[in-house]
Amino acid sequence: MTHNLHAYLFDEVDKAFERQVDFLVELTSHASVRGQEQSAQNLMADQLATRGYDIDRWQISLADIQHLPGFSPVLAPYKDALNVVGTHRSTTQQGRSLILNGHIDVVPAGPLDMWDSPPFEPHIAGGWLYGRGGGDMKAGLVSNLFALDALRACGYAPAADVFYQSVVEEECTGNGALACLARGYTADAALIPEPFSEHLVTAQLGVIWFQVHLKGLPTHVAYAGSGSNAIEAAFPLIEALHNMEHRWNVVQNRPDDYAHMDHALNLNVGKFAGGDWTSSVPAWSVFDVRMAIFPGQSIDSAKAEIEQVILTTARDNAFLRNSLPEIVYHGFHAEGYALSQDSSVNAAAAIASLESAHQTATGEPLVREAITATTDARFFGLYADIPALVYGPRAEAIHGFNERVELESMRKITKTTALFIADWCGVEKV
Ligand code: ZN
Repeated sequence: MTHNLHAYLFDEVDKAFERQVDFLVELTSHASVRGQEQSAQNLMADQLATRGYDIDRWQISLADIQHLPGFSPVLAPYKDALNVVGTHRSTTQQGRSLILNGHIDVVPAGPLDMWDSPPFEPHIAGGWLYGRGGGDMKAGLVSNLFALDALRACGYAPAADVFYQSVVEEECTGNGALACLARGYTADAALIPEPFSEHLVTAQLGVIWFQVHLKGLPTHVAYAGSGSNAIEAAFPLIEALHNMEHRWNVVQNRPDDYAHMDHALNLNVGKFAGGDWTSSVPAWSVFDVRMAIFPGQSIDSAKAEIEQVILTTARDNAFLRNSLPEIVYHGFHAEGYALSQDSSVNAAAAIASLESAHQTATGEPLVREAITATTDARFFGLYADIPALVYGPRAEAIHGFNERVELESMRKITKTTALFIADWCGVEKV
């Protein structure tokens, strides 16, 4: 790398930072919840095209991905699930190629009265940008884009191909990232700036989503005996699932990355519906569950145990034994992934490059962390042999109310990313 390039890169990041924040505000104002990502994707495609990248924009097709490892089942057919990739083609091809990945989808805002200000009218206060998706993970998408800009403003381009990916479906299946792999996008490393406090993520959990459907004969409340209520019948099932959660978390089951965590695997009942009328005994209920698994834990055996726990408990229940619960899988079938277990030369080199860039940009050593969530990193790491570095800005209340991202942290991440690109890919004159 050119001597002192880092000082020029950091300078260019600083010079463009106001525009970068403006763009983050604009991007966050698009309410890109699942099914409504198109306007935000249009904006991303426009921004990439304006900068001269080759644009690939396509609708995810189940036929292209449903046979692939890592695929997660979806109930509804895909409609308007569009991925956007902008490609930089190096003229010299001297360096190592790179995928810069981020997801455009955001989780629902929840009850609006829980927010201090409207979630899709982002605003800045005290050095933080507030708004749904600002942290998870539009600040990362914006950081990737402006890191490339900084290199170009210095008169350089990456000396290897770089694929800028803005994908859908990260928050429910990961099928957007999978569709990028299926379309042939591979590289020597991937960087995903998910908001984990400027730490390098060394391991992430797997996640399984399932729905439990309960139903039985409706009756008037006057004739209801105990145990005949489809809503109350869910309670023992939920309790049994939590017992399973505690068993999975015991010390002996924990891989090294999670040895210090008493409760890395969390079971969440995230949605509940049931019944039709206050004075009718509910004949049906449905609840949605998210359960985590450790890296290395098999999805098939986890599912078999979940099913066994539910059916065994149901057979002990007066209401359920005559009409056993139906278990439906849709959404995450995500395996865990541990970058720490990747012993390849490429992985070591990518981590060393990021470590050095982070140290230069922030003056601090890079902290490593195992997280209790999943990210799209698993697709690159598990199914394409691409070491995937998850490293992004500090954010708070992601998936919660008053989600926010620290702007100075986004600046640091952008500087690190610019330097990482220059070092990993090498540079060529524009
Ligand atoms: Zn995210």
